[in-house]
Amino acid sequence: QVTVLRLGHRPGRDERMTTHVGLTARALGADKVVLANAARNQADTVIDITDRFGGPFDVASTEEPKRLIRDFEGSVVHLTMYGEPVQDVAADIQATHAGEPLLVVVGAEKVPFEVYEHADWNVGVTNQPHSEVASLAVFLDRLFEGRELDREWENPDRVVVPQETGKHVVDPDDE
Ligand code: SAM
Repeated sequence: QVTVLRLGHRPGRDERMTTHVGLTARALGADKVVLANAARNQADTVIDITDRFGGPFDVASTEEPKRLIRDFEGSVVHLTMYGEPVQDVAADIQATHAGEPLLVVVGAEKVPFEVYEHADWNVGVTNQPHSEVASLAVFLDRLFEGRELDREWENPDRVVVPQETGKHVVDPDDE
């Protein structure tokens, strides 16, 4: 079980990024996203995509993200440019995750220091500044070693049939 927590959403500024954190978590193999700071429209968008393109994938909100981190029953990874290189710690995280749930925390604005302290691993995807969406995608791909790319989706209304050129989408109920 992998849960992604999106901290620090700033309404008006982080809307697309928060939506993209949710969609990336879903597409790249996490089981659930939790959105902080009342990101309600973003939660609705991710739920809508899951309804159309399949699940299972859970979407939740929290008013108390720090408590969620403190009380999480499992281990906590915080993605930060200041952390240990992902390529050095991925094997340890995989081994721990084999036995317990994982919470993956990404920020938006400045992340409170207690998140760094509570995390079992602070992990950098390079030690260069970039994006919560990019770091989440690379981290999940390293965690699952690419297996998430072959995931099957349950109960989709729409399935994309890959094309060399153009777009082909089918409704499996019509097949
Ligand atoms: N300036 C903020 C700070 O110092 O905490 C971070 C802003 S950054 C745009 C937003 C989020 O992207 C971070 O909280 C982190 O989760 C993620 N991020 C950015 N660069 C990263 C990197 N190199 N490795 C891992 N995560 C990164």
